[in-house]
Formats: sequence, C-alpha cells, structure tokens
Amino acid sequence: MKKDLYIVRCGEVALKGMNRPYFERVLLERVKKALECYDDTEANWKDGLMFVRVPHGADEDDVISKCVRVFGVASVSPAVQAPKEMNDIGRLASEFMKEIIDEEQIKSFKVKAKRADKTFPIESPEIARQVGGMVLKKCKVLSVDVHRPDVELCVDVRREAAYIYRDKVKGFGGLPLGTNGKGLILMSGGIDSPVAAFMMAKRGMSIEAVHFHSYPYTSQRAQEKVEELVKVLAGYMGRVRMHVINLLPIQEQIVKNCPEDETTLLVRRFMMRIAEKIAEKNECMMLITGEDLGQVASQTAEALVVTDNVVSMPVMRPLIAMDKVDIMDKAREIGTYDISIQPYEDCCTVFLPKHPVTKPKLPRIEKSESKLDVEALVTAAVDSEEIVTIQP
Ligand code: ATP
Ligand code: MG
Repeated sequence: MKKDLYIVRCGEVALKGMNRPYFERVLLERVKKALECYDDTEANWKDGLMFVRVPHGADEDDVISKCVRVFGVASVSPAVQAPKEMNDIGRLASEFMKEIIDEEQIKSFKVKAKRADKTFPIESPEIARQVGGMVLKKCKVLSVDVHRPDVELCVDVRREAAYIYRDKVKGFGGLPLGTNGKGLILMSGGIDSPVAAFMMAKRGMSIEAVHFHSYPYTSQRAQEKVEELVKVLAGYMGRVRMHVINLLPIQEQIVKNCPEDETTLLVRRFMMRIAEKIAEKNECMMLITGEDLGQVASQTAEALVVTDNVVSMPVMRPLIAMDKVDIMDKAREIGTYDISIQPYEDCCTVFLPKHPVTKPKLPRIEKSESKLDVEALVTAAVDSEEIVTIQP
C-alpha cells in the first residue's frame, strides 16, 4: 500500500544519554497510539529522526495535529523520500511543491539543503541551487525569496535516502507521557488548574484528577464544566480518571465552628488532606495545584505555607511564578480558556469570607481547626468519592 511520510523530531528526548532508547521507545508508542485511527501506520527511528508512514490520502492536517499533541514531539513535517540522485530529488521536489500549490496560495519558496551523508558528492549550497532551479522550471507560478518565502522546502540527504519536506509544524516539546510517574491534580473549573495539569503532563507525568463540589450549592452544570475541561486535557494525555467529592459537609462544619475570615484557608487545608489520601490510594506520588503566588488571598506566601503544612507529599505548583496574562495565553493555546471562563460557581466561592486572612498564622489556624474532628471528616469525604473516567 502506498503511504504518506511524515518526519517527527523529538526535542529533549534527544538530550537523554543512556536512557535515550527508553524515551525513544515510549515516544514511538505514543505517536503510534495517537495515529491508531489510521490502519497500518508505521513508525520507526532512524539516526535521531522518527519516520511515520500513514496510509496514502490520510488528512494531512489531522495527522499533523495528532502528532504535535504528543508530548515529546518538537516538530513535524510532511515529507517524501527520494533516491539519492539529483534528478530524482529535483523531480520529486517539484511534484511535492505542485501539490502544495494546488492547495495553498503560495507564490515564493526557498530551498534549504542539508547533507548528513558527507559521501554525497554535491555540497549543500549546490544541492539547494540545483533543486531550486528544477522546481522553478516545473512550477511557473513560483519565484525564489530567500528572506521571507511562503514555503521553505528542505532537502536532507542522509545515509539511506534523501528526504524532501516543508516547513516544520511545532509541537509542545517536553517528554513522553508516562516517563515521569503519576500526579494528582486538584482540578477546579477555573483557568489555572487545567494549565497546571497540562504543564506537568508535558514533562511526562501521568495525571489523575480530584474535583471538589458543594452540591447543591454548586450545580450539576458546574461539574459538567470541569468534565469538559478534563476532556480537553484527555485530548493530550488520553483517558483521565477523576475523583469527585462533595465538600459540603466539611464546609458546613467549618462555617459553623470556625472564624469566618479563615474559611477559605481551612477549606483548602481539607482539600489537601483529602487529595493526599486519594493520591496515596492511587499511586500518585505528588499533588498538583494551579496556585500562583499572590493571585488571591489563599495564595499569598503565608497562606501557601499554612496550606502545605497539612500534607507530607510534595505539592507541585507549576504556575507559581507566572503572571496571570501568561497563564491565560497558555489556556488559550491548549484550548481550555473558553470553557474555563464560563461563569459557574466553584466550591471555593460558596462560603467566601468578606475579608479573608491574607497573612494567616499556623498556630491560630490549628486552634480553629481543633474544634473539628478533622480525621473523621477527611475519612468520610474520601469514602464518599465517585469516580468518573473521561475519554478524549
Ligand atoms: P483555578 O483557576 O485553577 O480555579 P484560582 O485562581 O481560582 O485557580 P483557587 O480557587 O484559590 O484559585 O484555587 C487554587 C487551586 O486549588 C486551584 O488551581 C486548584 O488546583 C485547587 N482548587 C480550587 N478549587 C478546587 C475544586 N473545586 N476542586 C479541586 N481543586 C480545586
Ligand atoms: Mg478557582
């Protein structure tokens, strides 16, 4: 069967020393899995590049968008393979450009040549010049623009063959999913936590989620919004399991027994405790939150110290030093922003104090908490969990 070729480049995986074969193997599996809707897809590594072959006629945009969503992929280019003869390279390069002209409004191009095989008798600048000349002859609508070409046509002469490909489509980089343990994201319906989950997954961490609601103070629709967000994330990381917990019984106890200005912080300490228990039960080695230093009262340095104090598991806060505008840009880029800004209530906003403490002192917070049966409340919450599995 005739196949279409794509060249996939890895970013950091290439920097791995002894472990490189392992990372390459996982990345190969991830790319194959991403393209499993195409029968008979082949993928293999050759001298640091991944060559992916899908059945001829597969939608190019779809293949590319599936590949660039795989963490660890730095870039992807549609390509053709040519025999290592200048006439063949020129002919195939012209055909390749003709196909592009048929589909896109392009007027200019430039050829960039690379000669990894130094035994090939023609040097790179001369390869570029000759191929450029042959393309110009066959594609009359095109002219050469070395500064701002509409398409950069690359010719890469390697040991086994020559490859012709066009400009690269960038991926997210990072490391293949599953190469860095598993973490539990505390997932709200806001802008930040989906971005935090994405960033950790991009570094190879598998993700499980926990979401707290205060039903019936928070609506069913609010939870569906969170599920929609996780669905977007699942598009990058595959099926995600989400633990769903009603925090209302705990919130009611806090409101009844503790100072109003400490409510949010006390709720957050419970969230962390419950999350840690769920993480332990599900082999997650870290908690992940979307907290960002100073963004709100519960995220001042003092508040974060008091929140952290209740758990012994490491808490990852990948957004901690980012500005909100940059987090918002990232949310747009990964496709969660428009869902996040839908106005649904979150359990944190249900019993929001008018003037939350911004510089909490641990002894005072612990004293307030001593009025509650913390352990029993946490156990009851963990036992009441529901699990939803969200598919891409
Ligand atoms: P986000 O945009 O992620 O909601 P935020 O700026 O609104 O963040 P907070 O509401 O203080 O900040 O929440 C801080 C972090 O606590 C969130 O990023 C998330 O990790 C966690 N969190 C908040 N609410 C919930 C919830 N209902 N369920 C699970 N985790 C939550
Ligand atoms: Mg929030």
